Amino acid sequence: MLIVVVLLATVAMRVAIVTVVVYLLLPQGRFCPHCGGEMTAIRNRFFDRVVSALERRWCVECGWDGIVRRVRAASRRRAARRPLIPS
Ligand SMILES: [Zn+2]
Repeated sequence: MLIVVVLLATVAMRVAIVTVVVYLLLPQGRFCPHCGGEMTAIRNRFFDRVVSALERRWCVECGWDGIVRRVRAASRRRAARRPLIPS
């Protein structure tokens, strides 16, 4: 019985590690990872209800679409205050 518990814990840890790594590899924010243009959010019930940390976006300029990490409203405000060109 102990062996089964150890094996299940090992599998659960692997799934958790893979989930974290995949999450960190996803692009973040409103800007396209290919061309840098601003992307449009696409409503997706699955991501809105089940995985609210992710959202689907589409780039108007180059046509890239994919899943990105959702940017919280507070960090959006912080990014808006930050100047684009450092002085
Ligand atoms: Zn693009």
